[in-house]
Amino acid sequence: MSKYWSNLVKNIVPYVPGEQPQDKQYIKINTNENPYPPSPKAIEAMKAAIGENIRLYPDPECKRLRDAIAHCFNLSREHVFVGNGSDEVLAFAFMAFFNPGLPILFADITYSFYPVYSSLFNIEYKLIELDDNFDLPVDRLLSGNGGIIIANPNAPTGKYIGLDCIEKILISSNNSVVVVDEAYIDFGGESAAGLVNKYTNLLIIRTMSKSHSLAGLRVGYALGHEDLIQGLDRIKNSINSYTLDRVALAGAEEALRDAEYFDTTRRKIIATRDRVTEKLRDMGFKVIDSQTNFVFTSHDKISGGELFKQLKDMGILVRYFNKPRIDNYLRVSIGTDYEMDCFLDAVGKIIESKV
Ligand code: PMP
Repeated sequence: MSKYWSNLVKNIVPYVPGEQPQDKQYIKINTNENPYPPSPKAIEAMKAAIGENIRLYPDPECKRLRDAIAHCFNLSREHVFVGNGSDEVLAFAFMAFFNPGLPILFADITYSFYPVYSSLFNIEYKLIELDDNFDLPVDRLLSGNGGIIIANPNAPTGKYIGLDCIEKILISSNNSVVVVDEAYIDFGGESAAGLVNKYTNLLIIRTMSKSHSLAGLRVGYALGHEDLIQGLDRIKNSINSYTLDRVALAGAEEALRDAEYFDTTRRKIIATRDRVTEKLRDMGFKVIDSQTNFVFTSHDKISGGELFKQLKDMGILVRYFNKPRIDNYLRVSIGTDYEMDCFLDAVGKIIESKV
């Protein structure tokens, strides 16, 4: 605390990201990173982007990257906004579309950055309680509100809701913006991207951190009606005209073009996830059906906190949330087959010692 802090800084409770340990080498399956490297073509493009041109500012409109994204979804550049990671795009969306006074809605168990942005931007929110199976009670999202955010699939549960539900919500909340955070959609479920031309209040936010193995590059984007994209642009151009650097623009564009590489890695992760789910269930774990690159799991013989600690001591880092309703669960990112075998071996030993 400093006497120089503004009231805003004094009062915020910042988001706490998963550990990025520097002390020792862990099997690191705690922050939903992709265990496979990015497309070799993307790496080449990034290397090529580091040259004397770095003295020049990048394209503030990111036209080439937006075109490449638009092409993937059969949309046009006007439907696409890009930013420095989807966290930044989310923050801009809060500023662009939500107002103090009318609460926005999101689930009680979801991405923990949403309440942080709400308090940072002074936006009230109402938590919609997931049911005991961690399903979203869609009917409770149909009343008047100042906006809605849905992570689909949800994090940390991994659960997906169908586009029929998303459409219901879009129709009943047609006076406010519905943000669908599709950070994990490439690992299961169907994207709402096909609805962009149908609903003017839909904003989809996606990231290249997970399915494109580019967490370190920081590239996220939004898809929506051009009026929404212009709203995001107005915010961006009031904060920082150049949110994406030349290296990020080049790497992201090439990663998107390498559709074959993307598909191969994505499929490998899905196959590993399904195998891990089955093995965990064989050991008596409860595992929520996941459409993401992580599984959410608990065991009645050991608490989530203790399992987290024991795994860490064995050199395996997973994510534990010490929060109501989920404090007995661990979120385990899907790594390579070798990493997951080490994980399965370790939990097997821990559970055996409890029986
Ligand atoms: N949304 C969700 C649901 C996430 O889990 C994450 C990753 N922590 C993000 C958005 C942000 O991803 P990034 O900023 O790396 O694009």
